[in-house]
Amino acid sequence: MISLLTENQKAHYEEFKEFIKANVEPYASKWDYNQEMPDDFISLLAKSGYLGSNIPTEFGGKGWDFVTFGLLNEAVGRGISSLTDLLTIQAMVSMTLLKWGSKEQKDRWLNPLAKGEIIGAFALTEPNVGSAIQNLETSFKKKGNNYILNGRKRWTSYGEKADLFLVFGKDEDKSMACLLPKDSPGLEISPIKNMMGFRAAHMAQLNFHDIEIPESNIVGKPGFALSHVASIGLHYGRISTSCSASGLLRACFEESVIYSSQRKIGKKLVGDEGMIRTLIARMGTDLHAASLLCYSACKAEDEHTSNVYEKVQMAKYFTSRAVVRAASDAVQIQGANGCHESSPAARYYRDSKIMEIIEGTTQIHERMLGKTFVEKAAKLIKAKI
Ligand SMILES: Cc1cc2nc3c(=O)[nH]c(=O)nc-3n(C[C@H](O)[C@H](O)[C@H](O)COP(=O)(O)OP(=O)(O)OC[C@H]3O[C@@H](n4cnc5c(N)ncnc54)[C@H](O)[C@@H]3O)c2cc1C
Repeated sequence: MISLLTENQKAHYEEFKEFIKANVEPYASKWDYNQEMPDDFISLLAKSGYLGSNIPTEFGGKGWDFVTFGLLNEAVGRGISSLTDLLTIQAMVSMTLLKWGSKEQKDRWLNPLAKGEIIGAFALTEPNVGSAIQNLETSFKKKGNNYILNGRKRWTSYGEKADLFLVFGKDEDKSMACLLPKDSPGLEISPIKNMMGFRAAHMAQLNFHDIEIPESNIVGKPGFALSHVASIGLHYGRISTSCSASGLLRACFEESVIYSSQRKIGKKLVGDEGMIRTLIARMGTDLHAASLLCYSACKAEDEHTSNVYEKVQMAKYFTSRAVVRAASDAVQIQGANGCHESSPAARYYRDSKIMEIIEGTTQIHERMLGKTFVEKAAKLIKAKI
């Protein structure tokens, strides 16, 4: 994949990897154990421009292409998945605003999001509604020029730290989305601790009690919030997550190779065993395939190709499943050592499974991709008859 990058992209990738090696890898286990992403580190990330890497320069971002954005997420994913989750949601909120925000919303919020002065969170999932988003229970009711928001959201990444929430709900059968600043009267934020993975991602439950939303905070047209607004956020979330999973896969591979070339079983090294080599061969091949799929998805985004959604879904589907296999094998290779918090493999194992759940589960991706492939094939067959 490296050979496909431009010199500029290669230089950025080296910079990202060095940043992660110096500022993340030594602390990742501690952050995971403490379930805390320190504020001073988030400030450093913001100062480096990494929270607005994909936002155009006119709005204060770096304006990097999506291949570079993908490389950033890959490098961060090598360090700790809870941190890529921050890049994911920041991109989901900012890219949605860039696409569907009013001029006033863009002028007010994009610059501080790009500079990392504020953190955005994407509040779609509810206690009773995950994949089937058309059944959202959060309600918007028109009152004069405003809306009254009531409902609950759950599993909101960085909900505990966010300054601005992009909230989805319904007004009768019309889907709605709005911007909700964290100091809004009637907003209650309750941290969720003890997740299996992404433990430092400051998850929260949000409760909305008769919150007054000015019409100027509504994002997109009423009725189009799920089909158009949420789908944009999820698309960029998938780009970020697939590259993050690819970085985690690299972590599994690198740790496995190091361990198996040092640990002895009797007079042999673990890596001398054919069966262990099988695991490493599969991991290395999956890693290569994952990075190519991620590159192809990001390149399609940069080139605005018509099949970009399909490419991004394929990258998310493949990398999230491959990393679950790789993390399981990374623990297997390390035996009992891999089962203890002193080994990063244990964290990789817990984080990897989350990749199959966020931004559309594996089953949802199978439904979407299966439908696309069958429809394409049907068109081809029809054209031939
Ligand atoms: C660490 C973490 C961070 C998250 N961050 C956020 C966030 O920032 N914002 C946010 O809004 N949400 C977030 N989520 C929630 C996440 O998006 C949902 O968990 C996900 O959409 C799945 O919903 P669910 O958990 O309710 O599962 P359900 O939708 O209840 O699904 C249960 C099972 O049924 C399967 N299933 C569902 N529908 C179908 C179908 N039609 N066909 C076949 N199988 C199906 C699913 O694949 C799954 O296996 C986060 C979750 C986690 C774990």
